[in-house]
Amino acid sequence: MVMEYNPGIQLLRPRVDFDNQGYWDGIKQHKLIFQKCKYCGLLIHRPRPMCPRCNSMDMEWVPSMGKGTVYSWVNFVYANAAYPGIKVPYLVVVVEMLDGVRIVSNMYDVPPDEIYVGMPVEVVFDDIADDLTLPKFKRREV
Ligand SMILES: [Zn+2]
Repeated sequence: MVMEYNPGIQLLRPRVDFDNQGYWDGIKQHKLIFQKCKYCGLLIHRPRPMCPRCNSMDMEWVPSMGKGTVYSWVNFVYANAAYPGIKVPYLVVVVEMLDGVRIVSNMYDVPPDEIYVGMPVEVVFDDIADDLTLPKFKRREV
C-alpha cells in the first residue's frame, strides 16, 4: 500500500532553512544523512544549530545506514482527523534508526493491519513532485 495524495490540495512541504538545508539536499538526491557534532560525535535529528549535548555549533553531515525498526506508529483512518491532502488510511511512524536517532515518517508499502512495533524497516525515497521528495520506510527483510 503506497500513500496516495488527493489532487488539488496543496502538499505539505518542509520548511527549509539554514540548519536543515543539507538534510533536504540529501533527500532530493535519495541519500539519508544526519547531522553529527564534530566536537563530541553525537548524531542529531532533526537538524539544529547547536549540539544538545556539548553546545558546539560545529556540525557535519554523515550518511545513514538507512535501516531501523518501527518505534511507534499511528494509523490515520478518518479523513476529518487527517491531513486532507492525503488519502486515508495512511501510517505515520517513528523509526528508531540503527544509527541511533529517531525519525518521523510514513510507511511506504505496509498495510495498516501488518505493522507492529519492532518491525525492521529501511528508507525509500518518494518523489512526490518535481520539487518534493520525502523519505519513507518499507519493510526490511532480516
Ligand atoms: Zn556535541
